[in-house]
Amino acid sequence: MARIDQRDARNADGAWFVDTRCIDCGTCRELVPELFADVGDQSVVAVQPAGPEAERRAWLAAEACPTQSIGRSPRTPRPSGLYPLAVDGPVFDLGHTSEASFGATSYLVLRPDGNLMVDAPRFTRSLTRPLDAMGGVTHILLTHRDDVADARRWAEHYGARVWIHHADRRAAPFATDVLHGREPVAITAGVVAIPVPGHTEGSVVFAVDDTWLFTGDSLAWSLRAQDLVAFRGACWYSWEEQTRSLGRLAETANFSWVLPGHGARVRLDPEHAHRRLLALVGRMRAVA
Ligand code: SF4
Repeated sequence: MARIDQRDARNADGAWFVDTRCIDCGTCRELVPELFADVGDQSVVAVQPAGPEAERRAWLAAEACPTQSIGRSPRTPRPSGLYPLAVDGPVFDLGHTSEASFGATSYLVLRPDGNLMVDAPRFTRSLTRPLDAMGGVTHILLTHRDDVADARRWAEHYGARVWIHHADRRAAPFATDVLHGREPVAITAGVVAIPVPGHTEGSVVFAVDDTWLFTGDSLAWSLRAQDLVAFRGACWYSWEEQTRSLGRLAETANFSWVLPGHGARVRLDPEHAHRRLLALVGRMRAVA
């Protein structure tokens, strides 16, 4: 619950506020950019929501926030059923991000042969109830070591298999399926794990039906640049490796959606996505 006694003074005047426990993960800004803004060391409410739809979107950010720093005063009941949030077709945003993964977004993908959870949110009954109704989770796909969060609890709850790359396995010793090397691996029909070392040594992206590409922290959309980006300042293993990995990805993967852990998501025309990824790799080489 947000702390009114810790309301940041830089919030716009009005009911909604961000408190000073914010860790500046950016999740609210990527999700609801029309209401939340960065003030350097944290996020604040830049524009107060006006009307029911804007209020609902503010609640989406509040329920996604890893530190529960977003609230309103006077309080009103939080709407139910905010998450899983439909993104596109079988893909849902699970909200409920974890401070352990610095607010990384996780996803649910509905599949006829067993649903996928891509990276893990906080374990909460607010999600188990709707996920039970949607068929539970069969596979938990971990993009890298930083976004494991409550994967163990989710796996235990659903008896799910857990996939992670060997190089990042220490973050998920409970994993049932370990990826090796750099060659793509088929997980189930239409679901492929593609190792992309760089952000971490064990980073992986997951491609679903040549349409949805779950990229962890290896590739994202920038609302500010309106382009694909990689995070030079948050590259923990090797920028040169990440550049090569994204170059291979550009040559081999087909996709139209980029769905990251951090940063914004985007849908592009597949040819456009391919060209933008090649251009990004060119920019990455220039600053290697
Ligand atoms: S989601 Fe929460 S912790 Fe992250 S930037 Fe927004 S207010 Fe801060």
